[in-house]
Parts: sequence; structure tokens; C-alpha cells
Amino acid sequence: MTIAKVIVDVPARQTNRAFDYIVPADCVGWVDVGSRVAVPFGPRLLQGFVVALEEEAGVKASKLKPLDQVLDAEPPLTRELVALAGWMSRRYLCHEVTALQAMIPAALKAKYERLLTLGAAAEEPAAAWTGGASREPAEEAAFGQAELFAAEELFGDDDIVAFVRERGSVTLEAVQHRFPGCGAAIRRLIRAGWLAESQTVKDRMAAKKVLTVFPPERPESLDAALELIPARAKRQRDVVRYLREHPAPIRLTELMLALEVGAGTVKELADKGFIALREVTAFRDPYANRTFARTEPLPLTAEQQRVFGAIGATLAAGEHRVFLLKGVTGSGKTEVYLQAIQRCFDKGKEAIVLVPEISLTPQMVERFKSRFGSDVAVLHSKLSNGERYDEWRKIAQGRVKMAIGARSAIFAPFARLGLIIIDEEHEASYKQEDSPKYDARDVAIERARAAGAAVVLGSATPSLESFERTLPNGRDALSGAYELLEMRERVAGRPMPPVRIVDMREELKGGNRAMFSRPLYKALQERLQRGEQSVLLLNRRGYSTFVMCRTCGHTLGCPHCAISLTYHQNAGAMRCHYCGYAERQPKTCPSCESEHIRYFGTGTQRVEEELGKLFPGIRVIRMDVDTTSEKGAHEKWLTLFGDGKADVLLGTQMVAKGLDFPNVTLVGVIAADTVLHLPDFRAAERTFQLMTQVAGRAGRHRLPGEVFVQTYTPEHYSIVTAADHDYGAFAGVELDSRRQLGYPPFSRLILLTLSHENPQLLVKSAESLAGRLKELAASAAVEPGFACDILGPVASPISRIKDRYRFQCVVKYRGTVRMSELVREAVASLDDVCRQEGLQISVDVDPQMMM
Ligand code: ADP
Ligand code: ZN
Ligand code: ZN
Repeated sequence: MTIAKVIVDVPARQTNRAFDYIVPADCVGWVDVGSRVAVPFGPRLLQGFVVALEEEAGVKASKLKPLDQVLDAEPPLTRELVALAGWMSRRYLCHEVTALQAMIPAALKAKYERLLTLGAAAEEPAAAWTGGASREPAEEAAFGQAELFAAEELFGDDDIVAFVRERGSVTLEAVQHRFPGCGAAIRRLIRAGWLAESQTVKDRMAAKKVLTVFPPERPESLDAALELIPARAKRQRDVVRYLREHPAPIRLTELMLALEVGAGTVKELADKGFIALREVTAFRDPYANRTFARTEPLPLTAEQQRVFGAIGATLAAGEHRVFLLKGVTGSGKTEVYLQAIQRCFDKGKEAIVLVPEISLTPQMVERFKSRFGSDVAVLHSKLSNGERYDEWRKIAQGRVKMAIGARSAIFAPFARLGLIIIDEEHEASYKQEDSPKYDARDVAIERARAAGAAVVLGSATPSLESFERTLPNGRDALSGAYELLEMRERVAGRPMPPVRIVDMREELKGGNRAMFSRPLYKALQERLQRGEQSVLLLNRRGYSTFVMCRTCGHTLGCPHCAISLTYHQNAGAMRCHYCGYAERQPKTCPSCESEHIRYFGTGTQRVEEELGKLFPGIRVIRMDVDTTSEKGAHEKWLTLFGDGKADVLLGTQMVAKGLDFPNVTLVGVIAADTVLHLPDFRAAERTFQLMTQVAGRAGRHRLPGEVFVQTYTPEHYSIVTAADHDYGAFAGVELDSRRQLGYPPFSRLILLTLSHENPQLLVKSAESLAGRLKELAASAAVEPGFACDILGPVASPISRIKDRYRFQCVVKYRGTVRMSELVREAVASLDDVCRQEGLQISVDVDPQMMM
């Protein structure tokens, strides 16, 4: 007898235990590892994933229940992905089912339907419901007044029973639709045994079907049809003639449009047996209406050739290796990716390309589509569920050879993966902030390791974690060593744009209080006169959270942590989010006693207004969350800008990424400090990355470019080294500082966030958790090379969300001890409080944001 081990989708705090079910005879050979199934679980029917199949003889099996249903014709997950989910659950301390769910498209996620049927009481002969009138007062209080009102005024409980009786079984949704506000009545009826509730897994997502016209196998046979169809049936003859010349299957709608005939005409031909008309599974192609001019591989530059040689050799050998491709902006990394992918295809393997946020990088998608056409699946975050499902099925069925998409595209169900490329590998968006809180870079490396595939991490500004792993002693216990590949020159000898740092303190001294410095103002004016374009960056993150002196640039930092204090408006206090240190908000600058100390921040809208005042008639495209929420909005704005319909592209980080416009000769950063003073140990790194990326948008083509960076801290090493285009100098200073403070890459972090409505209970729990962590860490300290600090507990930066208070602890550790397991154990010590009091604990392994 075949037994399926199933990870069941139980939302509650359950272990990762797999449950055993018998595979019924008619499902053997159909069910496989990676299948989605519906299984009985207590009184309910739940969705689950098969993670193993075993042959078992005899007694034990007979006690098991059989699984109820196989939900898909093909298992949606490969064996390899199922194994990866197990790894994720151990690495990120998430439920295995959460990891499995993250791997399948939303369209396939469990859809439960609650069904109502008649209960035992209603089946008794001559039963009459009287409960509605004689409810207990205590019970009444439990129901909302609105519900009571609706239940009594608009319909009687017996109406509901009759409705269900008529239909046998009916969805809860349908009942609620028919009797608005009937929630209380239904609960009452269920308690009294008049109705019964059950739950089923809703049917699988239907693939889209389209009617398709099939000409006969031998098109010549249509000649006979022409003889049989009378001359007056002109339209029918048109269709036959057309199909005689174009004997390939064609969609009915397309044929109707091409020949301007009605569906009836075609159906008549089908009825007569001249052609066939059948439903065919269709793929909704979101790029169906786009054409991509085919591009050919470019002859590589010497630098590209060297890099491609290294990657190509690994692909040819079919080895697993991780490359860090560090190439300045405009050095031609994308062309290297394209040719590496071609090499991978030539070996009969498949490829995944990850980009930070795909809707921000339409130009990137275009370059892959142009080279590889319909071999590319695009997993776009703004696709509808149906479109996404279709792209995903193309991958699962081997109809495409590569997928490009954001973070979750790392789960593309390829069976012969040869290459994973992660562009802009330093981007924080590769980390998922919701459970499972995985880092797509690390998942990529684990997946590639298991598949024997190569990984290319590309960036002009690699994350320090990745960079450090290319250094002689930088081998990380968990991710191994990376091989560094460098490209230092822009293609065709184009120069890097000169970067001018503008000291805003000097501007203020000179009497200019505006948000545009005089040099940037002048540069903008010149561009307008010459008809060239400009990109302006304003980072809104960090808006109003840190306090800075406008006279001397002094910011308030924590004396223990080397990060900025965060302003808490309600308390009027400045706090450190790492260690809990606090002080009162100052009235004057502690450094120069100026009164110009204030909360920093300017919105994009204000900059737009200001531009209009300074340069009447200026055409500005503003890109921020407000103007880009619609589907396709990014593409629209970027196309307009590319077509020269605006002088200035103004926006948040999203304008810094991957854009390539020949006419852009000026880039302005309005306030470099906004990122620098975020309460995050990566603030300097993020500033350096952002400055470098945005500067890389200028002068990428024939026209030379120029960059202005406005700042109150012009001497900061992240700004100075970015202006010099000197990654090495930046990394040197930053790595030293991280080493001294013991931050990543010289340690790893695990962030634990606890939340509860009651602050007393929360603090007590947080302290108990921290205490348990310290005990466990102490007991592990005997292992060589292990060191561990437990920071906190302190209030989270966002100290209350939805009426729940939040506290956090940070585990900072070094060494090979399986810290995740210790954390799991510590969290388990609070299981009772979680179950009984509703305490929530979230665990973020390798957090990108310390919130
Ligand atoms: P990166 O991704 O490193 O910023 P891109 O791949 O966007 O750089 O390349 C910058 C520009 O150089 C693009 O316009 C690209 O078409 C062009 N380019 C890249 N490689 C070559 C090459 N080998 N020969 C000519 N032009 C190239
Ligand atoms: Zn501190
Ligand atoms: Zn000051």
C-alpha cells in the first residue's frame, strides 16, 4: 500500500510534522512528491502538499485515512522545490507549509469554501424552529446590534433554513448574500443543530479555454469543400479559401476578425464536417500585444569576454559556483547575462533572472524578450492572478527556457536549472518582509547548490555580505566563498560622470534656504536651454524621523550604537532602536547651539511645486507611490520620458534603478542625507549604493553627464567615495567599522519581534524570551569560534501596530552553531503564552530592516 506523507495547511501553531494518508488505488501513479491534495483533517477537509511517498505493508496502514482528492493534473512543485521548502523552514524558522505556499502562484493557493447543510434537528419530522424568540440575554450581548436588527427585521430564521433545505448544501457566501447580516442567526441555528457547517477545498483554478479552428489534416481536401459549398454562401467560401492557404490552427476570434465573418459562418462549416472547432487551453500572454525587435549578441569587449569566459566555463562543466560580478554602471553586465543564458540554453538547461522590482525595470524585461522572444516567461508583480498562473504553467510544462521576475521568481518550477542571475544583488527587496521571511539570494544559492547550477550576483555596488565572501578569509559557514569578477570600464570608453558634492550648509550661510542649491539650479537651467533631460532623486524613506541641524549638519546619534536616534513625536523623545537609549528632543543643536535644528524631510510633491515656480512651463514627470500605483504606470511614465515628453523625471528610489535614457545628462540628488541617518547599521551602505546607482543614470550614451549631490554632510565617507566612484575605498572603511561593531558580515542577526495588546504582559514575555536566549547562548558558548550577544528587549521602531504593542530582541552571533535551532527552542518556551494569551512572536533571520 502506498502512503503519502502530507504537510497539511493548518494555520495554527503546528509543527512541521507530515501526516500519513493512504493513496487510493485510482490515485497511485498520479500522486507524486509535490502534488497538492485535499485530505481529511479532523472534521475538515484541508489542502496539503505531498512531501514523500512510501510503500508500507500491513497493519499500520489500515488505520490511516485515505486522501480525498488530488488537486492538480500535474504536481505543481518539483521534488527539488519540496526539498528547498524544508531547507527554508529550517533556515528561516517558518512553517514548512508557509514555504510551500510561497512557491506556488496565488491562483493555486488554498481556497476554502464553507458549506451549510441541514443539521440533525431540522431533519426531524414536523420540526419547527422557535429559538429565535427565546434567546438568552447573555447570548444576545455576544451578537452585534446591527446583526440582531437585520436578523429580526428583514427575515426570519426559518427563511434561512428553508433556503438551505431547498438546495441541500449551499455556500456560506450565498446565504450571506441572500440574507445580509445573517451571521448571528446562522451561529444560532448551528448551535441548535438546525444547520451544519463543513469546509471543502474549492476547485482548482480553471485554465483559460479558447475556441480554435482546425483545418483538415490534408488542406487539399478543402478543394472538395469549395465544390460543395454553393456560390451564394460567399462568406463560408472565404473561410475555406483562407484555411486552404493558411492550414494552421487559428483562434476563432482571430479568424472572425481577419475575414470579418460571424461565428455562425464558421460553426456551419464545422457542422458540415469540413473543419473542426475545438476548445484549446490558452495561455494569457500579458505581452501578447507587444512586439520586441530581435537583438543579436554583441561582440563582447575585452572585460566582458574575460567575465563571460569564467561563467561559460562553469556552465560548460555543469558545476555549482557563485560569481559576484562587480561591474560599474554601464559596463555591460546585461549583455554578459544574455550571452551566459544563451550558453546555458545551448547546454539544454534553463535559467532564472531576478530583478529587484520588475515593474520598475521594464527596460530590463524588454532586453530579455528582445533576445529570447517567447522562450521568456515574465513573472510580473502586477500581473493578474490568471496571467501569473499562465506564465507559471509555461515554466512547469517546459514551454519556456527562462523566467524573469522579482524575488518569488526564484521558485520558478524549472526541472533543468542551469543558471540563476540576480541583478542588483544588493537590493533590500530580495528579502521578503512577510512570512516566510526569506532572502532570495540565499535561497537561490541553496537551490543552485542542489541543482548543480551556477549563480551570478551582479551589481555596481555589491552588498558587503557578498563582497566579503570574495575576500581571502571571507568564506561564510553557511554560504561558502564567492568568486569575484570585475568590470571597471564603461562600454566604448565612455567616462563615468563627474559628481559634484554641494554643501547645503554653505548654501544656508549664503542666504539660500530653498531646496535647490545654486549650482543645481544653474545646471537645471542649462539643460532646459539645451533641450536635454534631467533626473531628480528625492528619497522619501526616513522622512521626518531623524533630527538634523541645518547650520552645521550635526545629527543626533546613539552613544552606544553608532546609528541615528529616531524622533518619536508623541513622546517628544529621541530613541535608539537597537539598545533602547533615549534622550529628550533638543531645542538647540548640541554641537553649535543653532536653533535651526528640525525634523528633516521634503516630499516629492513639494519639489514638483518648487520646480514649477523656479522654471515656469517646465515639464515634470513625478514618479512615486502615488503616481505609480496603477498597473502599467511605470512603463507609461518611462515611455513618455523616453519620448522626450518631459524635461525632468522626479522621483523616489524608483528613478535610480536600471534606467537607460540617452538624452539624460544631469542627475540631481536633492538630499543625500535622508538615507544616511536612518536608524539602521546599513545606512552608509544604502547611501553609497543609492548615490552610485543614481549617478549611473547620467551620460550612458553619446552625451556626457553630470551629477550633483546636495548634502549637509559632504565629508561623510559614503558620499565622498560614491562621488569618486570608488567602491573599494568605501568597502574598506565600512568593513572596518562593521568589524569593530560586530555587525554583519562579521556576525549574523536574528530579529525577534513580540506583540501584544497588553504592554505589561508584552514586556514580561520579552524579558523572559531574552533571558531564555541568553541561557541557551551561554550553553552553546563552549563551541569554538562561537560568540553571541542578545540585544534588548527594546520597543520596536514602530512601537504599536493595530493596537498591538511591539517589542524586539536582536540576536547577534558568530560561528557555526545552529542559532536558528536555539531561537526555535527559546520561542517554544513561550508557547503557552502564545496559545493562551495571544502573544505573537515573529522571527526574522538575516533581517534587512530592523523594524
Ligand atoms: P550595466 O547593466 O552594466 O549598467 P548595460 O548592460 O546596460 O550596463 O550596458 C550599457 C550600454 O552599453 C547599453 O546601452 C548596452 O547596449 C551597451 N553595450 C553593452 N555591451 C556592449 C558591447 N559589447 N558592445 C557595444 N555596446 C554594448
Ligand atoms: Zn543604541
Ligand atoms: Zn549645529
